[in-house]
Amino acid sequence: MPHFTSQFIDSTPGDPLADRRSRQVHGALWSKVQPTPVSAPRLVAFSPEVVRLLGLDEAALQSPEWVKVLAGNALWPGMVPYAANYGGHQFGHWAGQLGDGRAIVLGELLAPHGKRYELQLKGAGQTPYSRRADGRAVLRSSIREFLCSEAMHHLGVPTTRALSLVATGEQVIRDMFYDGHPEAEPGAIVCRVAPSFLRFGNFELCTSRDDVGLLKKLADYTVTQFFQELGKPSKDTYAAFFNEVARRTARLIAHWQAVGFVHGVMNTDNMSILGLTIDYGPYGWLDDFDPGWTPNTTDAERRRYRYGNQPGIGLWNVERLGTALMPLFEGDEALLNAGLLEYERTFQNELAARFAAKLGLSSLEDEADVELVNGCFAWLVEEETDMTLFFRGLSRVVTASTAPGEFPAVLREAFYGQVSEAHLAKGLQWLTAWWKRTRREDAAPAELARRMDAVNPKYVLRNYLAQEAIEAAYAGDDSKVHVLLEVMRRPFDEQPGREAYAAKRPDWARSKPGCSALSCSS
Ligand code: AMP
Ligand code: MG
Repeated sequence: MPHFTSQFIDSTPGDPLADRRSRQVHGALWSKVQPTPVSAPRLVAFSPEVVRLLGLDEAALQSPEWVKVLAGNALWPGMVPYAANYGGHQFGHWAGQLGDGRAIVLGELLAPHGKRYELQLKGAGQTPYSRRADGRAVLRSSIREFLCSEAMHHLGVPTTRALSLVATGEQVIRDMFYDGHPEAEPGAIVCRVAPSFLRFGNFELCTSRDDVGLLKKLADYTVTQFFQELGKPSKDTYAAFFNEVARRTARLIAHWQAVGFVHGVMNTDNMSILGLTIDYGPYGWLDDFDPGWTPNTTDAERRRYRYGNQPGIGLWNVERLGTALMPLFEGDEALLNAGLLEYERTFQNELAARFAAKLGLSSLEDEADVELVNGCFAWLVEEETDMTLFFRGLSRVVTASTAPGEFPAVLREAFYGQVSEAHLAKGLQWLTAWWKRTRREDAAPAELARRMDAVNPKYVLRNYLAQEAIEAAYAGDDSKVHVLLEVMRRPFDEQPGREAYAAKRPDWARSKPGCSALSCSS
């Protein structure tokens, strides 16, 4: 039987009340709350890698006993479920207390090698933080979260994981486009897994209420549990902790930029203190390389969370965290500024390193190299060009024995429409300069191609692919969810026979809801 602990709630202050009524919870980092049972749970999918990570057994996970736990209908001994209390800045404005309105942590599982992972059910029913909402999640958004958590992990991007996807057998009412057309949809629960689900917003809420004692307890728990290498809690340690979070956040966002992932809701309540991608909502993948694109319809007007804005928003969010930690810095602004600088420095280095690697270069050596990368971006935005296909295609060009004499067919596939001869000529000029630059690398072209294929994915969870799997699942066929999970386990491999999953967005998906635009309704 798995062994569960409750270190977080055993060592930090909690809510003395244990009922679900919506309320403001002061002086507490969490509220104990039981999941609300569902009528007919069914395991739709699970991640074999997460099963292994946790030291569990695939057959056992599919047993009725485990499925009950994954649905919130039963608990293993040692599980003491709770919802976390946090606040956050939403779309640039302080939103006050938010908290886990539909997520419930079941407990911490002691996994092999002494690692501890929290198991959290998303969509497990109301908590004191649900406000007027139902505490549930729909199958559509649960499929998206389940698949993307695992796809991101296999791309090498830090992320919370997904152990399982359970259909509840119950209906949930959602007004998908907030246009007065509520509909019943199937409900689902994802069991998410991470060392911790703490967010910037947990820290912000304490400080917003001038509760420095609580802030300190939270920071001490976080540092002691997850940042032991920084030393015992002290002013210097808090500063080092802030620097490290800044660094991890910068690294995370550089990674998103490199694979074309747009989170869609980078509110500070959706920023992990461990630097993980967290809270998959109206996220999306760039098809054509458009820095102005955001998948989130709620943000369609101001596009705060568009692809090209993610790095700046990351910095803004880190500043919110640093401001929240200020009482622990004893008001020392220099410590805040040091963290912000750390973010900027790390982001620039990481982004340069990632795009250099995407182009087969071991580093950007000089101003000319930086210009080469910028020239690539500038050319890509001129005509609708698929980001994933373009970068993947470059490894086929790098192995040519001479600079390309004409625009390569493999890269033409990346265009969404007709392009002018002038655009092709400009592209060819860039390719020639790039190809020549690759000859200065130490490695042979075949080795460069191999390295490029290891960082330029062939398969990403394109929005239309997820949408097709969702539509099939709504019609009673889960097989596309399984196939997509399978394909996304090896995003850098060619996977003969599965080329269809690497295809650029088809025309029908260009402006279809779920493919190009997603609401927060989930
Ligand atoms: P999100 O936009 O998903 O990050 O959620 C923002 C806040 O709304 C969080 O506090 C969530 O827990 C809460 N929330 C979102 N959907 C629901 C729901 N269906 N029931 C209860 N709370 C919700
Ligand atoms: Mg959230």
